[in-house]
Amino acid sequence: MTTEIMNSLQQIFDQNLNDLEQAKADGRKAIGFYCLYSPTEIAVAAGAIPLPLCGTRNDPIAEAEEVLPRNLCPLIKSSFGFAVSDTCAFFRTADLIVGDTTCDGKKKMFELLNRHKATHVLQLPQNQDTDLSMSLWKSELERFKDLVETYTGVTIDEEKLADAIRLMNRERNARKALMDLNMANPILLSGSQILEILFKIGFLADKEKGISFMEEVAAEARKGTFQDDIPAHGGGKRIVLTGVPTGLGSDKVIKIVEQCGANIVAFENCSGYKQAFTVDEEKPAMDSLAEQYLATPCSVMSPNIGRFDLLEEMIRDFRADGVIDLTWQACHTYNVEAYQIDEMVQEKFNVPTLHLETDYSESDTEQLRVRIEAYLEMI
Ligand code: SF4
Ligand code: SF4
Repeated sequence: MTTEIMNSLQQIFDQNLNDLEQAKADGRKAIGFYCLYSPTEIAVAAGAIPLPLCGTRNDPIAEAEEVLPRNLCPLIKSSFGFAVSDTCAFFRTADLIVGDTTCDGKKKMFELLNRHKATHVLQLPQNQDTDLSMSLWKSELERFKDLVETYTGVTIDEEKLADAIRLMNRERNARKALMDLNMANPILLSGSQILEILFKIGFLADKEKGISFMEEVAAEARKGTFQDDIPAHGGGKRIVLTGVPTGLGSDKVIKIVEQCGANIVAFENCSGYKQAFTVDEEKPAMDSLAEQYLATPCSVMSPNIGRFDLLEEMIRDFRADGVIDLTWQACHTYNVEAYQIDEMVQEKFNVPTLHLETDYSESDTEQLRVRIEAYLEMI
């Protein structure tokens, strides 16, 4: 049954490229987004398709390194490599690319990316708790809304924004419901299964298809459908993975943890629980979007209080035995923040974290395995 469900997900994923082509042929625009800070609702409100962009595989990194320095975060190199080698169908389909001034490497990469496709960069403030930051962010989102209106020829009014917020809230609620299944003990879905489902659903042009698929999977999981295929079913340490985004191709740590007989019960990252929010449907739409998106708890913010609160809540809710904090090589913000994360987890839960710094290659797999095994034995 698990195989059947995962095959049907692959079929939906493959069909999505046809859906996208058809939507483009019908005159719809597509907008590619690199980061969780950019409100996709603004694209949806203009009838455009919001697309995440590829950046989780090692293959295009060599081509990226012809332009970018080697000692750069693999996520940035992979994103750039996919774009310049024309191997990301979503980048190819997009009429406009949107990035944010998050970390140094990414914002400088966007300058080069703009040579390949129009890239709009939102000027993201560096903190979340001042009036100045909020007023800058609101004006950035207004500027973005104007740009989307120009690209699509659609005037975005309050009603269209409210509809878009409702739709995207439904999608995020379905994601959250799926992830929350693993508060159960034993868990109902493996970390790898959750990662694959959320990753592929993210690319779907038809949001309703993704929502119904996630609801269907959640119903099946509650019946125990996936349990025989969970690597460490019925036992195994419960691990929360925190830190940088992960996806298919950048999931080696998740696989190793499962091979070592433990389970990733939840993801405190942009591929997982950082997307488990809802935008306020009552307030004026642009205010709600500005407030919610600026609150994204990423290490590029200083301070980044939200991540500590979120992680603490997740450790309790998912009854975690341990925390693995993943940093991509050369990601200074997550790397530096790892010290405070470890401090918080030790103080509040009396367990140390395992901080791993790696890239997308397989060269350190065995070294990682040894460290993960030792950590699992210790907790
Ligand atoms: S980790 Fe931070 S910079 Fe990277 S995608 Fe998420 S929010 Fe954006
Ligand atoms: S993982 Fe770190 S360095 Fe890489 S894109 Fe995200 S914030 Fe930037």
